Amino acid sequence: MSKARPVVGVLALQGDVAEHLAMTERAGATAVPVRRAAELSEVDGLVLPGGESTTMSRLLETFELLEPLRERLRAGLPAFGSCAGMILLARQALDGRPDQHQLDALDIVVRRNAFGRQVDSFEEDLEFTGVDGAPLHAVFIRAPWVEKAGQGVEVLASVPEDPGRAGAPARIVAVRQGMVLATAFHPELTGDERVHRLFVRIVRGQA
Ligand code: GLN
Repeated sequence: MSKARPVVGVLALQGDVAEHLAMTERAGATAVPVRRAAELSEVDGLVLPGGESTTMSRLLETFELLEPLRERLRAGLPAFGSCAGMILLARQALDGRPDQHQLDALDIVVRRNAFGRQVDSFEEDLEFTGVDGAPLHAVFIRAPWVEKAGQGVEVLASVPEDPGRAGAPARIVAVRQGMVLATAFHPELTGDERVHRLFVRIVRGQA
C-alpha cells in the first residue's frame, strides 16, 4: 500500500481515542474513528489505543468487531497498539481476566499491570529502533511488559535495568512483527509523533 496519505482507523470503543486521532493526523495519515465492521473494512491500518484491555475486549464483542478484526489482522492489516492495545494484540496476557480475548496478532506474552508491583506510573527516556533523533520520552501508566517474544518478533525498545527500583531487570516495552507494532507506553500523550510516523510508514509499506 503506498497511498501518500493512507486512511488509519483508531479503534474508538474506549480509551485515549482523541489523542491517537490527533497524533495520527499529525503523522501524515487521515485518521478516522472505528466502531463498526463497515468502518473497519475501509481503513488501511488500525491503531488500538491505551485504556483498559478487559473493557475493550468486552466491547469488541458487543460491537461485533472481534471476528472481523481478527480476520483483517490475519489478512495482514497493519496495526499499532499502545498499552491496552498491546495487550489486545498479544498472543497471551498474564494476569488478565480469564474471559479476556486475545487478537493473537503478535507472538508475545505480556503481563498486565506488570510495573505496578514497583510503581503504577513512571516516565523514561528510551532508545527506540526505527525512531531517529533524541531518545523517546515514554509515559507508562499501569503498563504491561513483554515477558516473552517469539523468534519473529523484533524488540524495538526496552526499559533498562534499574538499580534504583530494587534492581528491576531490563524489560521489553516495544516490539514489531511484520506489519504490527506495539508499545507498552503511550506515544499519543507526549506530543512527539515519531512512533506514529513509524506506523504510518509501515502502513505505506515504506518501513
Ligand atoms: N492496565 C491496563 C490494561 O490492562 C492498560 C493501561 C493503559 O492502557 N494505560 O488494559
